[in-house]
This record gives sequence, structure tokens and C-alpha cells, in this order.
Amino acid sequence: HAVLSLEHVGLRIGGARILHDIALEIPVGEMLGVIGPNGAGKTTLFNVVSGVVRPTEGVVRLDGQDVTREPIHRRAVAGLGRTFQTSSLFPGLTVLENVRLAAQAHAGGAASVFRTPRRTDAATRVALDALAEVGLERRADAGAAGLAHGEKRKVEIAMLIAMDPKVVLLDEPMAGVASGDVPAITEVIRGLHRGGRTVLMVEHHMEVVLGLVDRVAVMHHGELLAVDTPEAVMANPAVQSAYLGEAV
Ligand code: ADP
Ligand code: MG
Ligand code: MG
Repeated sequence: HAVLSLEHVGLRIGGARILHDIALEIPVGEMLGVIGPNGAGKTTLFNVVSGVVRPTEGVVRLDGQDVTREPIHRRAVAGLGRTFQTSSLFPGLTVLENVRLAAQAHAGGAASVFRTPRRTDAATRVALDALAEVGLERRADAGAAGLAHGEKRKVEIAMLIAMDPKVVLLDEPMAGVASGDVPAITEVIRGLHRGGRTVLMVEHHMEVVLGLVDRVAVMHHGELLAVDTPEAVMANPAVQSAYLGEAV
């Protein structure tokens, strides 16, 4: 069944049509790439799905439940996790402390930052498991401010994992990542998917998602031009003409 579905979703801000008549059904466990040029509406689509922005038309369903009017935190508890285009780490905290805060927030307890006791409470164990999943357990005590960009992205993904999401929205996870770190981040994203999670991933370029995703959704001027396999999308005349011969 569809773990996430959008029905005729539209968003107008002032006179501007930001999203128009978006229909999308995401089966459980799918890895979907969302591509399109700058300003196409990709981040706005994630904002509508995660509850940062309410659509002016249409319905968003998570596991069949209408969440269109639900606030962000209710959707997070229901299993929706996301990263943002810019880093959301607390720079003054360590890697472990950042991930532990995410685990505590998800557990609904009071968030607290303290260095002892270590490795005993539930939130710390969840955080260490999440760090192990992204291969950063040895960086647990490093300060977040001093991390390389690729490591920050991995910590952000570990924070997501600590919140035990069913559906993960990644907004340009490769942005600003050194090309040498791209394969490692790609492996972490593959790992999220292998863990049974449904993954939606925004990228500017098709080549980043080729070989990684099951399907690609192409956005252009707030509309969904096509949702299909990467091969079918690249052969789609509407997609080709929208890009006026540019490489997708
Ligand atoms: P993408 O992520 O594909 O680059 P965005 O979703 O960030 O695109 O933006 C899509 C369009 O919507 C852009 O033209 C942007 O200027 C506009 N937009 C996004 N949010 C708002 C807002 N809160 N108010 C007005 N315009 C917005
Ligand atoms: Mg799959
Ligand atoms: Mg964006």
C-alpha cells in the first residue's frame, strides 16, 4: 500500500502558483528521487509533506491517514523524518549529544544535554546505534562545529534514524559534499532504504539518483511532469521539452 500519498495538492502564495495539482503515491519501501531545476518546488513539496507549510488545495496522507492539517511534530511521531537543505546541527554540542537530543525528542521526554552517565540511558543507546548505522560511532565525542561537511550530513541522517522514521525526506543530501565523500553518503542512503524505510530524495541532477532510486519524480514550475523509472523519465518527451535539450 501507499505509505505516503498526495492527492491534487496545490499551493498558492499571494498570486503565485507554487505547487499545482500534485498527485503522487509512494509504496512502502520505495526510494524516490525528486529532481528539477532551482525553483521548481522540490523543497516546497517536502515542506507540504512534513507540515512546515499547509497546502491551499488537496490532501496529504501518511499510511492512509489524512495529515494535511497535522502539525510537524505529529507527523514526526507518525513516522515522517526529514533533513533540511541547510545544516540543523547544534555546533556547540558533540556528535553524540546532537543525535541523543533527536532520540530524546522522539521519545517525548525532556531534552537534556549532560555528559554523564554515558552509554547507559535509552536515548544514548539509540543515538549510538544510529551513529553506528552511518559509520560514525568513533566520532561520537567530536564537536559538531569541527566536522567535515560530509560528516555533518551523516550526523543529520543519524538524527533521523534516532527518530525511527518510516518515511525519510532528504533535501539535497549531496549539496556541498566533497565529491570524494559522495560514495559514502550514497551508501548511507542505500542503508536507510535497506533498513525498510521509504526514502524521498531531492536532487538537482539525474546522474546523482541514477542507479540509486526506484523511480524519479520530475518537477518543473510547481508541477509534477512525470513519475517513472529513471530510464522512462529520461525518454519522456514532456520532460525533454521542459528542459529544452538540457541534460536532466
Ligand atoms: P526548489 O527546492 O525546487 O529549488 P522551492 O520549493 O524552494 O524550489 O521554491 C519553489 C518556488 O516557490 C520558488 O519560486 C520560490 O521562490 C517560491 N517560494 C517558496 N516558498 C515561498 C514562500 N514562502 N513565499 C513565496 N514564495 C515562495
Ligand atoms: Mg526499493
Ligand atoms: Mg530546494
